[in-house]
Amino acid sequence: MSFTLNGVGSWYYGRNNVHNFVGQCEFCGASTTLTSYDTTLYFVVIYLAICPLGRKRIINQCASCSKHRLMPLAAYNTFHDTAIDKLLKDYCAATENVEKATELIQATIHFRAAKPFQGVRVLMEQALPHNAPVQSLLGGACEFFGDRSSAETHYHASLSLDPSNTATREDFAVLLLKKGHVDEARQWLSHVLDSPSMDKRGYLYVMIEGLRVAGRHRESLEMLEAYAASLPAIHDDKEFKQYLKKSRRYTNSSKPLRSKLLAAQAASTYEGSPWNRRLPLLITAGIILLTITIIVLGNL
Ligand SMILES: [Zn+2]
Repeated sequence: MSFTLNGVGSWYYGRNNVHNFVGQCEFCGASTTLTSYDTTLYFVVIYLAICPLGRKRIINQCASCSKHRLMPLAAYNTFHDTAIDKLLKDYCAATENVEKATELIQATIHFRAAKPFQGVRVLMEQALPHNAPVQSLLGGACEFFGDRSSAETHYHASLSLDPSNTATREDFAVLLLKKGHVDEARQWLSHVLDSPSMDKRGYLYVMIEGLRVAGRHRESLEMLEAYAASLPAIHDDKEFKQYLKKSRRYTNSSKPLRSKLLAAQAASTYEGSPWNRRLPLLITAGIILLTITIIVLGNL
């Protein structure tokens, strides 16, 4: 962690290879955006970078409490490259091996290896196009890396092979709701909506969020009431009460409402450049030069 007291201490400057996703913070428990990125830790005086203390990989920095894990960047990259290289070699030796494919996809997600994942995906599209679990996993990974269009393709491929897989149906439905495709999402959540259970009520709520974004409040109320008619116990659920109350308030409206839940995005982005990393030192050098110039001119 960076630390400063009266402007003196250590501070992170620069962000490269940035990955954001929505998850639960391991420190404060908030469900929020967790960010991982490469950065440089500097020794600072009055918040001016004096000297670099090392390149770091920040892991899952919480948008709410700012806490995170970190590793020296070189160690992270070595470990990341070694781990992925080994899994890739193992997979290339047996490209139809589902277990090896699964391990490789999971490793690219774990290390936020967006670029290696693109190559892995091409390999698996050729070797395992008819394997429903692998296609589903590829869909989840594409979504994690912010490629929703490819995620949709893989989920479709998986469900055309095995339409009864409820986990894939649910993941795909949530993706469709994020894209505003409410009716198609409803179709893939039919196993939840037609057979209400307390365990699956989260998918009811995400469906209601989708209807709200589309301004379809009367349908959202009807859906909540139908769910409760088959599962009266849900009336005791605090979230259900809130959803019911809001849907009743907007019953006669078609106003689209924002949904924080559906706005949650997974995207891999690259920010910064070598200039970005050098900027703190350039600013400090500029200030020192300016100070020297003022002193010299003052003595003339
Ligand atoms: Zn937190």
